[in-house]
Amino acid sequence: MPEYRVGAGFDAHALEEGVPLVLGGVAFDHPRGLAGHSDGDVLAHALVDAILGAAGLGDIGSLFPSDDPQWSGASSLDLLARAYDDVRAAGWELVNADVILIGEEPRIAGRRGELEQRLSAVAGGPVSVRATTTDGLGFTGRGEGLAAQAVALLVSEPATHGSYAGGRERPRR
Ligand SMILES: [Zn+2]
Repeated sequence: MPEYRVGAGFDAHALEEGVPLVLGGVAFDHPRGLAGHSDGDVLAHALVDAILGAAGLGDIGSLFPSDDPQWSGASSLDLLARAYDDVRAAGWELVNADVILIGEEPRIAGRRGELEQRLSAVAGGPVSVRATTTDGLGFTGRGEGLAAQAVALLVSEPATHGSYAGGRERPRR
């Protein structure tokens, strides 16, 4: 019998002038981007925390410490790929994940497919991406930053599988 585990993730970063905006590994043409140790990609970071939480492997800060220069300016899709490698090594694979961007701008509706495709390819399973606002309330409502929430479901890989046999290809890094 396969086992299932669910995990949740949350992330937030400040919006700053003159910083490139990257969400879900996709570059957005926007006057402000997300400040952070890596590229500040809230979608990828929340997703990393969700899969790590589901696998009981801690959080993004313990895996990629912000005081470690190795991760300075790192691509968050690379962090996601590394985190999923750890999740797989612990015997789990992604069933699906759902990620919600919280903020007034940018509007991602026109690029949802692109975001979902990019995140799904790296996360090893289907990832849906949606967006919501907070009706002008709070730091996201005032445009001071963006936040994201994610939930991920993992299933245990049958122990008889010597190698990955989930049928979902993911690109080599
Ligand atoms: Zn983050």
